[in-house]
Amino acid sequence: MDIKLVKDILEANDVVARGIREKLEQSGTVMINVMGSPGSGKTSLIAKTIEGMGETHRIGVIEGDICTSIDAERLARYHIPVVQINTEPFGGECHLPAPAVGKALESFDLSSCDLLFVENVGNLVCPAEFEIGEAAKVVVLSLPEGDDKPLKYPLMFRESRAMVISKIDLGPHIDTNIGKLTGNAHLVNPGLDIFLLSAREGTGLEAWFAWLEGVLRSKG
Ligand code: MG
Ligand code: ZN
Repeated sequence: MDIKLVKDILEANDVVARGIREKLEQSGTVMINVMGSPGSGKTSLIAKTIEGMGETHRIGVIEGDICTSIDAERLARYHIPVVQINTEPFGGECHLPAPAVGKALESFDLSSCDLLFVENVGNLVCPAEFEIGEAAKVVVLSLPEGDDKPLKYPLMFRESRAMVISKIDLGPHIDTNIGKLTGNAHLVNPGLDIFLLSAREGTGLEAWFAWLEGVLRSKG
């Protein structure tokens, strides 16, 4: 019984996700689902991307958090459309399900948005289980989280098309082996595109921007 219930929830989610995908295709909007642990640097990555690509692309953000609008307020300073979803009123869900994203999309003028980031709730587990109609999933893993994470949380790395390894400026202070980390990630997902960057120092961003340009050109 329990197994069937979970399956039904995921199927219902996927139906909504398909509707979202069609809607985004019609407006020509590329939606990127940004996932990763709390504190991995998702908001900083999005902020740096707005700084680097915001002049040439019309960017919007959906911010998913259990509580607060701290991240949304930080990104709204760039004068772009930002919509906050707080999951606490709905039981504090630790991921964004497709219906919540669909509801947030109603607040956007999609015809004037080329690139839409969804910052998922900070969590390395269940956000990867829920399709939201995105063009691509991206996992942000900060270097201090360690090189074993792709093996311990394989679904996240298998579902993602790209992995951003953030905070690489901390490398000299910690024991994470970058070669081992990228090797473990490719064991789980051989096709994963990997980027190493430091939002704080502004290094490694160009390759990430080029990857996004490729996704934009192919419209997903
Ligand atoms: Mg954040
Ligand atoms: Zn969850």
